Amino acid sequence: MINEKMRGLGAKRSVIRELFEYGKIRKAQIGEENVFDFSLGNPSVPSPTCVNEGLINLIKNESAISLHGYTSAQGDAGVRQAIAEYITKTQGFNVDKDNLYMTVGAAAALTCSLTAVVNPGEEVIVLAPYFPEYKVFIERFGGVCKEVLCDTTTFQPDFERLEKAINKNTAAIIINSPNNPTGAVLSEENLVKLCALFKKAQDKFGKSIYIICDEPYRELVYGGLTVPYVPKYYDNTLVCYSFSKSLSIPGERIGYVMVSPKIKEFREVYQAVCGAGRALGFVCAPSMLQKLIPCCLGQTSDVSVYDTNRKLLLKELTEYGFTCVKPDGAFYLFLKAPTEDANEFCERAKKFEIIFVPSDDFGCKGYVRISYCVKTEQIEKALPAFKKLAESYNLI
Ligand code: PLP
Repeated sequence: MINEKMRGLGAKRSVIRELFEYGKIRKAQIGEENVFDFSLGNPSVPSPTCVNEGLINLIKNESAISLHGYTSAQGDAGVRQAIAEYITKTQGFNVDKDNLYMTVGAAAALTCSLTAVVNPGEEVIVLAPYFPEYKVFIERFGGVCKEVLCDTTTFQPDFERLEKAINKNTAAIIINSPNNPTGAVLSEENLVKLCALFKKAQDKFGKSIYIICDEPYRELVYGGLTVPYVPKYYDNTLVCYSFSKSLSIPGERIGYVMVSPKIKEFREVYQAVCGAGRALGFVCAPSMLQKLIPCCLGQTSDVSVYDTNRKLLLKELTEYGFTCVKPDGAFYLFLKAPTEDANEFCERAKKFEIIFVPSDDFGCKGYVRISYCVKTEQIEKALPAFKKLAESYNLI
């Protein structure tokens, strides 16, 4: 018998992937330059030179067994040591190599973390709008995905709704800052408030409730903002980090889980993360990519390109009459649809060869996500089409 839950996931691709595939077909039909594809968070800014140079050096200088062999399940000790030292230095938070577990990107870091600290039937709070794969990752093992809508005027948490959502079955909350799809960065003030709420809930229910931070966009912030490091504010924290976006290497699949040393049952939680990785069949994160990381720590692709794109889109689209909460990070714009049905908006945009993603699957209807990690020229070329789209709704 086929596992119907899994068949369903395979048969119905994510809307994001569906639109990405549509874009590929359309580009083949009318030429790449004539399609304005804003569907996927696939960075177009080249990787910093440390990536290719680092790989070449590794290939030249490392033995095959060191480069292509298995590492220990939690990752190469030297690599974990380098990351631990980097976190300790940059965040002022003491981390040891034994707090780290190397993963196949943030997606695997999330599945390992969730599987480790949540039992079937327990609830995981996600702040909507949220990355749609969270629901898939949570429901895979029988967890319950509990959506709590943010304050849509700021896309910061709505604390009244959040407090009501916490109960004795709450096992964890996922925070994603900077956020996909809104670009919102959780303010320090709101982080402190959120941590206080969960500390109170832990006391009330006499159990550990974990904060799982999903941080693939940590370095992608604008206007001098910094992203607070959650383990400094809340002990029961696991950080899921990825190099996909900061180094423009999403297809290479490398990231880690940092299990905070301050977790009360640290040993058990770390063992559970290792056990989850084993049960999910990850064996170890890609060896060559692990070895690349020490020479790339602290480096990023040119984030200023995303900032230019953000400013350009924001200025022009608001001039055309569209509305949007100004994003402070990541590379997404969450635009309010001019009609109630965001799907209709997306379909109409396709007539102008613009591809963006309706917000329904992000748990917040009536918006579209524009992924602006594209070349600035694509945005410049797309502006007349956006203008026509606005005109078709009489926004101008
Ligand atoms: N979390 C969020 C919020 C994302 O946007 C993505 C990818 O787009 C991921 C996790 C998965 O990242 P990775 O490619 O590192 O698995």
